[in-house]
Amino acid sequence: MTDCIFCKIVAGEIPSAKVYEDDKVYAFLDTSQATEGHTLLVPKVHVENLMEYDESLAADVFSRLPKISRAILAANPEAKGINVLNNNGEVAYQTVFHSHIHIIPRYSKEEGFAVSFANNQESYTQEAFQERAQRIAAEI
Ligand code: 5GP
Ligand code: ZN
Repeated sequence: MTDCIFCKIVAGEIPSAKVYEDDKVYAFLDTSQATEGHTLLVPKVHVENLMEYDESLAADVFSRLPKISRAILAANPEAKGINVLNNNGEVAYQTVFHSHIHIIPRYSKEEGFAVSFANNQESYTQEAFQERAQRIAAEI
């Protein structure tokens, strides 16, 4: 895609700090460095978000995650964990619309990135819970 910043990075048209590349994916440091070593993994093909992946592209991208994550930890021995984050859609905080996976090494719970889920368990019945699951299952 001509006007996509990550396509330009993949093509080498704008500089990046490359971590890994093969025929299907490209991984490079996120300029924000939420924590030291924060890396983005992208498919070379331009797709906007996860919903545009077929199974083959999903295998291409997600099969590379473990070895890149291991390398980030090996290169940063003080990191003790990894958050994998993938934003899809503006409402989900996606700002670059070439699909990408954030790999964020964690040095402490207080640093760089926070995850917090609401627990709404009190607000629905068991029937509503099952009905929600069935509605999704019917679409797969
Ligand atoms: P999103 O919010 O879409 O999940 O994440 C987009 C990420 O891309 C942000 O964390 C931002 O720092 C990163 N980013 C945006 N432009 C560039 C760039 O030109 N080079 C690199 N390496 N990262 C970028
Ligand atoms: Zn692109």
